[in-house]
Amino acid sequence: MSEKAPPYRLRLPGPTAVPEGIRVALAHPVVAHRGPEFADVMTEMSSLAKTVFGTQNEVMAFASSGTGLTEAAIANVLGPKDVGLILVDGQFGEKLVQIAQALNLQADTLEVPWGESVAADSVKDKLATRNYRAVFAVHNESSTGAVADLAAIGEAVRASDALLVVDSVSGVGGLELKQDAWGVDVVVTASQKALMCPPGLALASVSDKAWSVIERDCGQARFYWDLRRAREAAAKGQTTFTSPIPLVYGMREALRMIHAEGWSNVLARHRRLSAALRAGGEALGLPAFARARALSPTVCVLAMPEGLDGSAVVRHLYREYGTVIAGSRSKLQGKVIRIGTMGTISEADILTDLDHLEKTLRDLEWKVEPGAGEAAVSAALEAAA
Ligand code: PLP
Repeated sequence: MSEKAPPYRLRLPGPTAVPEGIRVALAHPVVAHRGPEFADVMTEMSSLAKTVFGTQNEVMAFASSGTGLTEAAIANVLGPKDVGLILVDGQFGEKLVQIAQALNLQADTLEVPWGESVAADSVKDKLATRNYRAVFAVHNESSTGAVADLAAIGEAVRASDALLVVDSVSGVGGLELKQDAWGVDVVVTASQKALMCPPGLALASVSDKAWSVIERDCGQARFYWDLRRAREAAAKGQTTFTSPIPLVYGMREALRMIHAEGWSNVLARHRRLSAALRAGGEALGLPAFARARALSPTVCVLAMPEGLDGSAVVRHLYREYGTVIAGSRSKLQGKVIRIGTMGTISEADILTDLDHLEKTLRDLEWKVEPGAGEAAVSAALEAAA
């Protein structure tokens, strides 16, 4: 990275800033990945992770980014004779389609305009038309800021033989998930988002219903990504191949932090701060992009008004104020900006975001009412205090 003089504010929707306590944990001396010391760390990490997944299943760890483990989930559930149903309401839903295509697997799609989310009733209707092996959904569509109604979708899928497989890469750790209660069969997430760690560790949890599908020999090639072997290794507090040892120490610390703050407090903080940031954006003339029934507490996706280029806003925020946010690498490029509201963020972060955003808009000669954003943030924070 070409270092920029401080302040460098990492405000992406992942990777997110890594808190000091986790950085210290990451520096733990490397131990044997098949030894008892590491098994203890893995076992504690997996046990603490159950809370944020909302599950009693084992939470398994993998050296991978989120996409790798998502590919694994698809390859373990769908065989060459199976058909999947992929819910698409944004870039990461499209990514699921691309993965299935790359693996030569068959999948239908259920699509809605970006910014909305697929209704559970449409899933139910679609399931009645064909014998689907699994439904694939994105919990928190980071490209649009829409949240899927997993409770209702889970209810629709549970009534069928199909599995529900969910990418919660940008959800787990900052967005409510009740895997067992909602009937979600496979959940995949990654370390670098609401779980506050560096990239490189992915986590998955699998229901008994899903294991009965994964355990069969479906004819789909799998080796590194064979979840059957991962399950055996996890039972011993290990991973199938060499573990990303420092990241597992880091993840244990991240989960200890979440438990120390209190899981419901963590969720409430994410909801409150994301709502405040959206209120501030709206007051500056940048409303939330999504029109879904639930907006993301972990990423704020703000729509650009006609004539204002989101990429220019992203560039200026970084160059002039050291605030690093994301634009879009999809058909929304230039039309939205995306700011992470996950991890250790505080009120001060949100207020600084708004201050820098307002200054940026003014620098770009975009008309804004001075102080409007910060006033809206403060009012929203107070109302939700
Ligand atoms: N799914 C969602 C919802 C995401 O937000 C991302 C990353 O932004 C991914 C998948 C891809 O994850 P990774 O970059 O860890 O492979």
